[in-house]
Amino acid sequence: MDRTMSVLTEARLLQPKLVAWRRDIHRHPELGFREHRTARIVANHLSELGLEVQTGLAVTGVVGLLKGSRPGPTIALRADMDALPIQEANVVDYASGEEGIMHACGHDGHTAMLMGAAEVLARHRDRLCGQIKFIFQPAEEGPGGAEPMIEAGVLEDPPVDAMIALHLHTDIPTGQVAIKYGVASTCAAGFELTITGKGGHGAVPHKAVDPIVAAAATVMAVQSIVSRQIDPLQAAVITIGTMEGGYRSNVIAHSVKMTGTMRSLEWDVLLFLIEQFTFTVRQVTKAYGCQTEIEVEHGYPAVVNDETICRVVEHAARSLLGSSSVSRAGQPMLGSEDFALFSLKCPSCFFRLGAQNTDRGFTQAWHHPSFDFDEEALSIGVAVFSQAVLDYCC
Ligand SMILES: [Zn+2]
Ligand SMILES: [Zn+2]
Repeated sequence: MDRTMSVLTEARLLQPKLVAWRRDIHRHPELGFREHRTARIVANHLSELGLEVQTGLAVTGVVGLLKGSRPGPTIALRADMDALPIQEANVVDYASGEEGIMHACGHDGHTAMLMGAAEVLARHRDRLCGQIKFIFQPAEEGPGGAEPMIEAGVLEDPPVDAMIALHLHTDIPTGQVAIKYGVASTCAAGFELTITGKGGHGAVPHKAVDPIVAAAATVMAVQSIVSRQIDPLQAAVITIGTMEGGYRSNVIAHSVKMTGTMRSLEWDVLLFLIEQFTFTVRQVTKAYGCQTEIEVEHGYPAVVNDETICRVVEHAARSLLGSSSVSRAGQPMLGSEDFALFSLKCPSCFFRLGAQNTDRGFTQAWHHPSFDFDEEALSIGVAVFSQAVLDYCC
């Protein structure tokens, strides 16, 4: 390998391979915990590079370990491998060959980029101090692969000191990188309530227990949690999305079902919201004589980016792409992301990689049946991953 060659040049030379891997994975998308084919491709590649490879972690997860020539820290790079239950609408020769399954979030690109970073960094093995773990996780789109990967020990033996991951963004032009310091995504919880009273005749309410009135009072009561119990400088939302109950105009309903969502930028705030919400709903509906079942489903916590690791990535991206191509994002990414679980365990940077190309029509949002991204971003992602690791470990 030519020592004078920049990592960006090395990554660009890999571009045909990156595109081939990405398109092959795109043609054969697999849902969460079923990424067997994808995992096999990843594991074979890592083995060919001479890495120590573990497979079958959290069902389909793969980890490759690259040992440097001298002792030093351990840094992990992470990609997600799963697709979504969406029917692809793109007419391209690499379109999904699986009915109703599609890589509509760019995880095919994430997987290809991490395979590429492993190839670049394996060539620099002799100048690396420490070790690099390449973590390929299943099921980011749900129910979540990060947690079972952590339980399977991927952050141990050797313990991981820092972690980096990226997400392709079709709302950021190709060639640009954005980094959000601190909280980088939202955390969410969904809920379902069943308020049960006692049905009866609409003209004889005193012989019934009306869950519609209790539900109406509940909707109003929970509004004051955000306005009266949350610090005005912290963000929180409670939304009741659906309400369903009753039979006809002159009948008192037996029960009412409601569903909704709670959001926040901080896990502690979300936990407080859930606690207050549950308490308020129980007390209000009890006051109206009803029984209430509350089911809360926790989503992912927020990704929290570490300042030191963000600086490493920012410096690497600036040195490769120029300062004007790298920005600090002002707002967290809307939506939640499984990488959050890793970011809570170890200092991390989850950065945004631009993959938008308006001329070529790569502008569609994630999870849209026409989602596609500019493949020119692939070598840039590989270069930023690789340079950040070399800066951290050399
Ligand atoms: Zn997604
Ligand atoms: Zn995604």
